[in-house]
Amino acid sequence: APVVVAIDGPSGSGKSTVSRAVAARLGLSFLDTGAMYRAMTWWMLANEVDVTDAEAVAIACGKPVIVSGTDTDGPTITVDGVDVSGPIRGPEVTAGVSAVAAVPAVRSRLVELQRGCAAVAERGIVTEGRDMGTVVFPAATVKVFLTASEAARAGRRAAELRAKGVDEATIAAMAADLGRRDAADSSRTTAPLAQAADAVLVDTSELTLEQVIDTVVELVAQ
Ligand code: C5P
Repeated sequence: APVVVAIDGPSGSGKSTVSRAVAARLGLSFLDTGAMYRAMTWWMLANEVDVTDAEAVAIACGKPVIVSGTDTDGPTITVDGVDVSGPIRGPEVTAGVSAVAAVPAVRSRLVELQRGCAAVAERGIVTEGRDMGTVVFPAATVKVFLTASEAARAGRRAAELRAKGVDEATIAAMAADLGRRDAADSSRTTAPLAQAADAVLVDTSELTLEQVIDTVVELVAQ
């Protein structure tokens, strides 16, 4: 069977950077499932669906056509053919995404797309999110749960945003939002953020990016 590397963890644990680098190193495809929840949220906002109204979100969530490109060199995400890779990182989507991701109908739809991406990845895939090891790929080859102290996570997110030229007020607002989002993601009823029983816990607080990448690559090679 093709390799599936399932990487889960809270926001700012370094998941995306690590997952993409591991995929590149091993010649595997890469799937950022958070981008799919963000794309769904972007569509809801663009179509004036109240993202806090779970019933309205459930009714609408079958409408957008969400396509994820899984090429490690340039992962892409489109909604109804529109490239949304920029707007899905903005504060509006970030503020609304946890509510949208808590709706079971949204999850079942996106989980199906995620499994489809893995099924067509010829050499295998590295997938990252909150429920890769627990729900989406229970039989994954390797499961990793990345954590980091809250301070390390907030610091990394701020550095990322600063490098993109985001202003300090927005950075502070997004830092506050990070804690709220992790609490929401961990406490929801459907597929909460959780470490799978057979996942390897990697605390990245005191590790360099290279060390984390090496650790995960080692686990896959074993
Ligand atoms: O990883 P990222 O921070 O971009 O994910 C955005 C949001 O999408 C998370 O806060 C969470 O609510 C949701 N998500 C999820 N399940 C996943 C991936 C992301 O619920 N597998």
